[in-house]
Amino acid sequence: MNINKNYLNLQDSYLFSTIAKKVAEYTQLNPDKKIIRLGIGDVTLPLAPTVVEAIKKAADEMGVQSTFKGYGPEQGYSFLREAIKKYYSKKSVDIAEDEIFISDGAKSDLGNILDIFSLDNTVLVPDPVYPVYVDTNIMAGRKIIYADANESNGFLPLPDENVKCDIIYICSPNNPTGAVYTKEGLKKWVDYALKNDAIILFDAAYECFIKSEELPNSIYEIEGAKNCAIEFCSFSKTAGFTGTRCGYTVVPKSLIKQGTPLNKLWLRRQTTKFNGVPYIVQKAAEAVFSELGQKQIKENIQYYSENAKIIADTMESKGIWYTGGKHSPYIWLKCPNNMSSWDFFDYLLNNIAVVGTPGAGFGKNGEGYFRLTSFGDRNKTIEAMERFKKLF
Ligand code: PLP
Repeated sequence: MNINKNYLNLQDSYLFSTIAKKVAEYTQLNPDKKIIRLGIGDVTLPLAPTVVEAIKKAADEMGVQSTFKGYGPEQGYSFLREAIKKYYSKKSVDIAEDEIFISDGAKSDLGNILDIFSLDNTVLVPDPVYPVYVDTNIMAGRKIIYADANESNGFLPLPDENVKCDIIYICSPNNPTGAVYTKEGLKKWVDYALKNDAIILFDAAYECFIKSEELPNSIYEIEGAKNCAIEFCSFSKTAGFTGTRCGYTVVPKSLIKQGTPLNKLWLRRQTTKFNGVPYIVQKAAEAVFSELGQKQIKENIQYYSENAKIIADTMESKGIWYTGGKHSPYIWLKCPNNMSSWDFFDYLLNNIAVVGTPGAGFGKNGEGYFRLTSFGDRNKTIEAMERFKKLF
C-alpha cells in the first residue's frame, strides 16, 4: 500500500489559523477593545426571501409522494440549467443546456476538473491567487509555473509567448486582488491558449460584482473562448450560498482536445463520481434567477459594493496604492511604509483592532500587500475606516 506522496508536498496553510491565534491573544490581553474583522471571505447577509420561500416549497414537495424526488440527473435539473442558459443569453453568450453542469460549488469543480487532464500537463497559475488552484495540482503531482501578478501589471498578468503551458488558471474578478481583466486582456489569453493548444480554467465566482458593461462577466464574451476555456461559477457570493452550496461549470461542446470533446469526458466523470445537488438546493438556485430573486440578490451585492467603496475611498484619501473594490468585494492594498504583510497585520490589530488578511498568504508576490473585504457589517466597516484614517 502506497499513499499519494504528492500530499506530503503540500505546504501547511497557516494563514487563517495564525490570524485566529493572533486575534485570540489580542482579545485576551485587551478584553475591552472592539475588534472589527475585515478579513473574511464569507458573506454575512442572509439568503434572499424569495430563495428561502423556494427552499420551503421544495421541502414540502419532498414530503409528498406525488412530488417526492429521489436521485436527480447528475448534471443538474433542466429547470436550473435553463435558467442559467437564459442568464448567459442576457450577456449575449449562447450556451446550450447540456454544456452546463450543476455542482455543489466552484471549489469542488475546480478541483475535480483535473481528473480529465493528464498528469504531465504543465499548469500556469497567477501569483498571488486563490490557493485551491495550486494545492489541487500539487496533490496530483503536476508541474506548476507562475505568472507574476504585481503592481506594474495591475495584478493582471498577460501571456508570455516564451512560456509554454497546458492548463491556465484565470480568476476575474480576482481573489485576493479584486483586479478584473478587460476584454482585451482576456483576448490575449484566449489567443495564447488557441495558439499553444492550452486550456483556460476561468473562475468567474465573483462576476456578479462587475458593474461595467465594458468588462467581461464571462470568458465566452471573448471570441474563440468556446474552443479553449471552461468556466466555473458559483451562487456563493452571488446569492449568499456559501452554506447552501451550489455552483455551475460550463464545458462547451466545441472544446475538443486530441479529438475528444471535453464535455463528454466531464459528463462521464460527473456521472461516475457525483450524484447531483439536492433538489431543494437547485430550486433555491432557480429562485435566484426569478425577477424578484435578481432584485433581492442585487440589493445584497449593492450593500457589499458600498462597503467596498467606503474602504477604497479611504485608501484613495490616504494615497495608499490599491486594486479592486470597484468590481469586486476585495480591496488589495500596498502596506504603507514598506511594511511586510504580517507586520501590517500586527500593526492594524494592535493599534486600531482591525483584522485583515496578509497578502503573503496568497503567494510570494502577495508579500507587502494586504486584503480587506467588504462582506462585513456597514457600520463596522465605517468605524474601521474611521480608525484607519486616524492611524495614517
Ligand atoms: N473561486 C474563488 C476565486 C473563491 O474565492 C472561492 C471562495 O472563496 C471559490 C471559488 C469557491 O466557491 P464555492 O463556495 O462555490 O465553492
